Amino acid sequence: MKVLVIGGGGREHALVWKLRASARVDEVWCAPGNGGVAADGECVAADAGDVAGLLALAEKLGPDLTVVGPELPLVNGVVDAFEKRGWLIVGPTKEAAQLEGSKVFTKEFLVRHGIPSAAMYGAFDTAEAAYRVLDSVKWPVVIKADGLCAGKGVLVATESAEARAFISRAMEKNEFGPGGKRLMFEEGLSGDELSFILLTDGERYAPLVPTRDHKRVFDDNKGPNTGGMGAYSSDELLPDVLRETITKTIIEPTLRGLKTDGIRYQGFLYVGLMLTKNGPKVLEFNCRLGDPETQAILARLDFDLADVLDDVARRRLQPEKLKWKPGASACVVLASGGYPGKFENGKEIRGLDEAAKLADVKVLHAGTKRDGDKIVTHGGRVLGVTATGDSLDSALRKAYEAAGQIHFDGMHYRRDIGRHGRQSSATGD
Ligand code: AMP
Repeated sequence: MKVLVIGGGGREHALVWKLRASARVDEVWCAPGNGGVAADGECVAADAGDVAGLLALAEKLGPDLTVVGPELPLVNGVVDAFEKRGWLIVGPTKEAAQLEGSKVFTKEFLVRHGIPSAAMYGAFDTAEAAYRVLDSVKWPVVIKADGLCAGKGVLVATESAEARAFISRAMEKNEFGPGGKRLMFEEGLSGDELSFILLTDGERYAPLVPTRDHKRVFDDNKGPNTGGMGAYSSDELLPDVLRETITKTIIEPTLRGLKTDGIRYQGFLYVGLMLTKNGPKVLEFNCRLGDPETQAILARLDFDLADVLDDVARRRLQPEKLKWKPGASACVVLASGGYPGKFENGKEIRGLDEAAKLADVKVLHAGTKRDGDKIVTHGGRVLGVTATGDSLDSALRKAYEAAGQIHFDGMHYRRDIGRHGRQSSATGD
């Protein structure tokens, strides 16, 4: 099989790594890929959001299977375009991808199917109406841009001035682009967060191993939100009773609801949950794998990824094929100085070879670029140092040992990935 992976971050490097390991695969392209993907596959130039460009690329390469990493091509309809030509592709159609592409669509879907989530105060198309609703909400209130905003579209506001500033940025200054023209307001929930990701062919589904992401930039969940500073996976994250509750009250009603609404959903579905004292509630859906959760999940993979994804695209998923390594995994993200604010690119990265020599470690690249025979930084989140172990402790020890081998100017990373998981299995970070 020849496989095309769309995207260029750490998630896509992890996909390329595991697809390349498949006995059925003899070529993997990654569009556009990054400085590290080249070691596991071939990078080809592409704009991942441009459906026409991706069609032309696939026409030229002729992949047997295409796997979509990021949300933008999905929301832009890349799956519809490929399927129309009879090409095999993994990911939801444009209609199904609205579960991520529109927060209002999602909230209406959740309410219609009785799936627990935060209560909604309303959705507004004008700044005046949005300011007005602030007089009648309970604090904290959560404000969500309806459309895609590259991870910047959600604010948990504790008071009015903060909320007003966000409304102004979204609706008056147009800082978030078209995705921020409509805002939805909902109740603030509290509890531990958990990511539940599944793979479905539209009929059957298989859950992936549970993971937890670390969104804030600094230790102890301090500082601003980021795209994710690390993740870990261990079976203890999801005790059987909790898994059963989530399956019965959220996962199965969601898949049933999609069918009832006549929406065929194929691919990865990411369910972001808040474990509140009144039970698990949906915070968001993503129509693809998370980053850096993917790195932690795929490190534990013990099946042929290409084979299973080919089954999904052919609508014949066999959930029992998904097998996982026992124990745990961890991914520590090494970030550029200043991230998630302003940062400089082009810093030489040293120590990659030394880190790669360590057992059970894989250094997955995100924001990197080749510069002659050097690898330099080229993004905020630069590397995802990923390791597996018999226990969470051992996976973390190996990941941090490998991270300690790597250096670039301004590099910073969290020292407490998975710390909570080590202390207590059922509580969050
Ligand atoms: P979303 O993109 O909707 O998941 O929002 C991003 C992050 O905002 C989530 O991972 C949560 O940390 C937080 N968040 C979203 N909705 C809520 C809510 N209703 N209550 C509290 N926090 C929330």
